[in-house]
Amino acid sequence: MDSNDWLQEEYEKIKKNQMLITLQNKMDKIIQCKENFENMAKRVSKQKSNVNVKSTDNYCKSDRRKNSEPELEKENIEEQNDSEGDRDLILEEFEENAESDIYPEEVEEIDNKDEIIKVYISSRTHSQLSQFIGEIKRTIFKDVTRVVTLASRQHYCINSEVAKLKNVNLINERCLDMQKTKSKSTSTSDDGRVLKKSKLRACTACPYYNQNNITKLKERMLIEIMDMEDLVKCGKELKACPYYASRMAMDDAEVVLISHAGIVSSGARSGISLKLKDNILILDEAHGLSAALENAHSAPVTVKQLSSVKTYLQFYINKYRAKLSSRNLLSLNQISFVVGKLISLAKPKETEKNKETTILTLEDFVIKAEIDHMNLRPLVEFCRSTRLAPKLHGFSMRYSQQVLEEEESKKIAVKKNSFQKFLSNIAKKKELATVEETQTETNPIVQFATETSAGSGLYAVLDFLEMLCARSENGRVLVQQGDSGLLKYLLLNPAECFADVLAQCRSVIVAGGTMEPISEFKALLSSNGRSDSKLNIVRCEHVVPPHNILAVCLSRGPSNTVFNFSYENRMSKELLNEVGRTLRNVCSIVPGGVVCFLPSYSYEQTVYDHLKNNHIIDFISKRKSVFREPKSAADVEQVLHKYSLAVKNKEKNGALLLSVVGGKLSEGLNFSDDLGRCVIVVGMPYPNVKSPELQEKMSYLNRTAGGNAANIYYESLCMKAVNQCIGRAVRHINDYATVLLIDERYSRVQTISALPSFVQKSLISNSSFGQMIGSMAKFFSRHKEIKTN
Ligand code: SF4
Repeated sequence: MDSNDWLQEEYEKIKKNQMLITLQNKMDKIIQCKENFENMAKRVSKQKSNVNVKSTDNYCKSDRRKNSEPELEKENIEEQNDSEGDRDLILEEFEENAESDIYPEEVEEIDNKDEIIKVYISSRTHSQLSQFIGEIKRTIFKDVTRVVTLASRQHYCINSEVAKLKNVNLINERCLDMQKTKSKSTSTSDDGRVLKKSKLRACTACPYYNQNNITKLKERMLIEIMDMEDLVKCGKELKACPYYASRMAMDDAEVVLISHAGIVSSGARSGISLKLKDNILILDEAHGLSAALENAHSAPVTVKQLSSVKTYLQFYINKYRAKLSSRNLLSLNQISFVVGKLISLAKPKETEKNKETTILTLEDFVIKAEIDHMNLRPLVEFCRSTRLAPKLHGFSMRYSQQVLEEEESKKIAVKKNSFQKFLSNIAKKKELATVEETQTETNPIVQFATETSAGSGLYAVLDFLEMLCARSENGRVLVQQGDSGLLKYLLLNPAECFADVLAQCRSVIVAGGTMEPISEFKALLSSNGRSDSKLNIVRCEHVVPPHNILAVCLSRGPSNTVFNFSYENRMSKELLNEVGRTLRNVCSIVPGGVVCFLPSYSYEQTVYDHLKNNHIIDFISKRKSVFREPKSAADVEQVLHKYSLAVKNKEKNGALLLSVVGGKLSEGLNFSDDLGRCVIVVGMPYPNVKSPELQEKMSYLNRTAGGNAANIYYESLCMKAVNQCIGRAVRHINDYATVLLIDERYSRVQTISALPSFVQKSLISNSSFGQMIGSMAKFFSRHKEIKTN
């Protein structure tokens, strides 16, 4: 044997041994992990049997946090009322570059050496995530899978005193405040100078922030699969915070459920220490992904919010001027100045009649708002570090009455003053002068000031300013002027913010029932130079066989009138009459529920009024009960309940529900079986092409992607909305339904190709009315036969 062979052999042996040791270590860890979870399961079952015999109070013994919540609430209130110079409301001295303690627990390093590969499952809403929990529970994996649902404190906080703050930022701040055991306090000397002193002061702790109980809740949720509702219930039972328990359980979980909002924003991801690296991400309901990205990277702030912030900030400064350090005072005046300038841009003086909506680049915006000389970043940092927003919220809660009264008296004084000026003007110049003009000169802001919370308003202002500071090349500001005006930061290409998610994950799966048109996802997943060779598109057949669906593009009505619901045509009486006749006929032959989507709320009103005035509603009501989508989201459940009862009512032949595309009933609802035997979409719901926001986005696409990108985007906005409506029916393998698309434009080749493939398979395009009625009648009689056999 030559010496080289010998060396090579030894080297191979060492390599094999090393690999063996590594694998053995892995194996030991897996066994250890298994044992840990077996022990955990035993503890949980023991704990549950203890709960049955003992009072749950035992869970919080030997801790000062054993205060019951009512006691705590009382303590809080007393603390709030202890004005002692409003010490709790006054800003501590701002230290630049000081270590921020805004989210102290967020930066906690968790030892995570033996990380488990996780599957993150994300959906649009929490109720969809709860449905997913229900599905896991139906599988054989239910006893061996560790599942955790993550949500914000807004969803999980069980301390009613904190939860009632409603605004997520205020809840976060209050919760963190309550966890501090010591706090610094700012005080003043006799001569009014600010004295910074550290003072030990017991902070009111949240009774649910108890590590023992939180650990028990964490173990419980890892052993038993729980949805958000179960977790909150169990948290109350164990007197443990569900928010912190779910955060703690995340490291041991194999499946983590989280909303789209928690995934798409890097701030939200780092806020909960979400580790995507080398893990798997499944984004369900992916048709809403672009909208979620757009929402996460836009920042609207209304004139009402700005006015509220300005008013309370001014009162705050005036009230505590003597107690604030000169540095804090300067920064407060600067932020007040910036807010004032934003108001002047969004709500110009009433004498300036030309109120408009424009889109500005970031440079143009700061120049137009006259804040180009301001360094905004330190100002935002000042507000965040000193926790100005929760203090301003507390101030506005405590002094709102006083602020209102002072505002009122100011207004009266201004009116009086104006009236005197008016009289003297008549006397001197014998000219007419308007009271309003002089009034706005001296009192430009406060109209809405006290209607909205100054604290949540300031959070919106800070988010807006923070995005301005990012100075993205693709950032724009929408300026909508008027009393209910708005400033909105927009990011024209939010896909660039998704690149980081793609880079970190082992694999990303975007899934959905209505993913057409797919081009948008191709662009999203192969952006930022990623090769689309890594992209796999898998189209699965619908579980429902093609003969259970009948789709028709109806181009002409019963009187042979061409259906074209373009903006110019849609109000035509002839067209409305044809819609009425079509609905009447369809309702006569379709059994069960018919859900008819119209392009907008105003058009739904027009159609309904026309049908009512022409007695078509009366005619349809003889066979089917007629319902309309309610204006308020709070009424949706009630209307759906009544609709479902009407569909089941054997005395009638089902019900008709008039709804709106993109409204409250077009997404996430399940019109299965008799609830939705026919889905009708009247017209094509194109968004308003004249909207400045859409125009800016389209010209951006033309500039950057070229070709036909802007038109494809515009078409896809419309077709995504249509496909969502279609997706409400045919919900399981034995379900069957018809889809009626009323507009000749649905028969265009490019529009058909944007429909879901299961619809395309059974589609009759460019259909006449007679052909549609014949096909529908045959379809339902066939299914009636199948049912009876
Ligand atoms: S610890 Fe939990 S329950 Fe307590 S205030 Fe914070 S989020 Fe609410």
